[in-house]
Amino acid sequence: MDEITEKIENLRKQIRRHEYLYYVKSDPEISDTEFDMLLKELEALEKEHPELITADSPTQRVGGSVTSFETIVHRVPMLSIENSYSLPDIMEWVVRCEKQLNRSPFPVVAELKIDGVSGSFNYNNGQLISGATRGDGQKGDIITSNAKTIKSLPLKISSNLDIDVRGEIYTPRIVLEELNQKRLDEGLEPFKNCRNLTSGTIKSLNPAVAAERKLGVMVYGIAQAKELGFKKHSEALEFLKQQGFKLNQEIQVCNSVEEVKAFIDRIDVERNNFQFDIDGVVLKIDDLDKQEELGSTAKAPRWVIAYKFPQPRAKSKLINVEWRVGRSRITPVAWIEPVQLCGTTVSRASLHNIDQIREKDIRLGDYLLVEKAAYIIPYVVSSVKEDRTGNEKEIQIPEFCPVCGGKTTTTKDDEDGSTIVRCDNENCFGVKARRTTHFITQLEIENIGPQLIDRLLENKIINQPEDILKLTEAELASIDRMGIKSASKIVANIKKASEKPLFRLISAFGISNVGPVVSENISKAVHQSLEEFLEVSSEKLKNIEGVQEKIANNIIEFINNPNNQPFINAIKAWWQGPSPVELAAQKASNKLEGKSFVVTGEAIVPRRKLEDLIKQSGGQTKSSVSVKTDYLVIGSLENEDFVSNKKTKAIQLGKPIINEFELCNMVDVNIDTLK
Ligand SMILES: [Zn+2]
Repeated sequence: MDEITEKIENLRKQIRRHEYLYYVKSDPEISDTEFDMLLKELEALEKEHPELITADSPTQRVGGSVTSFETIVHRVPMLSIENSYSLPDIMEWVVRCEKQLNRSPFPVVAELKIDGVSGSFNYNNGQLISGATRGDGQKGDIITSNAKTIKSLPLKISSNLDIDVRGEIYTPRIVLEELNQKRLDEGLEPFKNCRNLTSGTIKSLNPAVAAERKLGVMVYGIAQAKELGFKKHSEALEFLKQQGFKLNQEIQVCNSVEEVKAFIDRIDVERNNFQFDIDGVVLKIDDLDKQEELGSTAKAPRWVIAYKFPQPRAKSKLINVEWRVGRSRITPVAWIEPVQLCGTTVSRASLHNIDQIREKDIRLGDYLLVEKAAYIIPYVVSSVKEDRTGNEKEIQIPEFCPVCGGKTTTTKDDEDGSTIVRCDNENCFGVKARRTTHFITQLEIENIGPQLIDRLLENKIINQPEDILKLTEAELASIDRMGIKSASKIVANIKKASEKPLFRLISAFGISNVGPVVSENISKAVHQSLEEFLEVSSEKLKNIEGVQEKIANNIIEFINNPNNQPFINAIKAWWQGPSPVELAAQKASNKLEGKSFVVTGEAIVPRRKLEDLIKQSGGQTKSSVSVKTDYLVIGSLENEDFVSNKKTKAIQLGKPIINEFELCNMVDVNIDTLK
């Protein structure tokens, strides 16, 4: 071994050891900076000697993006676990096992039930070969690149055995909390729990996303433990520990039902202090011979059972329903008598819309059951009918806008049919906030969210959407909590937006039924010229694809409305449009030309935005899967067992199924720009 090779190997050894101490043992010996310096030194050496880079080098954790996931058939199926909800259920399980075994099923190993995504990691000859999701238990997606970003998962182990290590991939709570805070600031629906977030992350096609989300893995077994000669589950765990894996944080070998109960009780008290979500405790019979004797039902092994903790809930009285003028609608918020829930006092909870109020039959004066999404955001589960006194009152849609007192209008959402209540008064503060937000989002101006817009309006720094265009750093910095650095970033972003293509501008006008797709068609027809657009005739508009008479009238009305002239003039003075180079680049981006897509399920960005992206890239979207469909896009927030007609049809027809990350990769678009 020459000097360089030796040096590189030495560095890798050191780095692996420190990764293990930091991510597995949570007991680092050196500072982050010192660690970074070791890693940088290794990177530099490997850059000089690329022939010496190996797949298990700590520098290889974050690789390049992939375009789609292949599937793998698990060598040993990953069965699900039967759930139980009470101690008597567990006693019954013990008795059942004892009867079948003709002897005591104890000792039983108790572990935490981590609320994440199960994965299988193949190691052979000491190397991490591949990682896969549980999938349907028989087959899963290959997620090797993302698995490699998980620092608590060793890329190299000392054993040469060919094994499938099973573990639970999870997202630390703090990551979820930070991300949710950001999403709330941007007016986006927060992730309900760590599991949803983990599942979205692990299916991201860009390993950099997975690396950023700081996923962890706690391993819980080896698929081939018995064949390899292990006698007990706990022995296999001990072996994994010696190999440098992070085990389940709490493992206890219990010798009686009493010990199991004590374990469950202790965890129930401590679980809110863990840095990750758990939803219960898993109990496994330790003896592998006994496990084999018990075997499995079609669904689940008989030698394992999960005890699930009840979701923390609080009961409280509904005092008032406040109608809030939001971005695009007036939505109800429940004010309840203050009540303790998961460590905080809760006094209001989300109700979403009037349909939910009616569906859940919630009345003023009712007692409500409240839970927290992601342990943070309270929402109403149901009303408690038994507690009614007869004095409860039905909740009505507000007749007048709570901000300006103008009459409200009620319509149905085109997409999901839900009831929308809105205020149509153009001078309403709420409406101004709504128009300004729309303007900002359509022009993709970053770093300005609905909350900032509210503050700008409240402080009279802006009075109309177009005032945003003239914002200065000093004005922005006069808002509390806003630093000069953020202020100049925003000003720069606004300036940059003046080079956005015409269709973005037209859709930013907020003309009813004129979204990015229709705007795109109009922009083409008016040769990307704002002047031509402002002089367009009704006849010309009606000949454009997607523009019906009603839409044409809306557009003409918008252009000619005297009230809109200050806005239009401000835009004329500000907008420059893309440079010729950018225009050419846009034309080349017809990457989905001739391809047909169906989008379904819950994704991390609104479905409509994904459909816009497809159309903007030259593709088509349809509402049902047929032989003509090229791809079915299922949002990554849906579990593997997501059931829908579209999915069934796509599988029958052998159509590829992708998620929003894969879609964005196809057109080289960063998904964050869609949020
Ligand atoms: Zn109003």
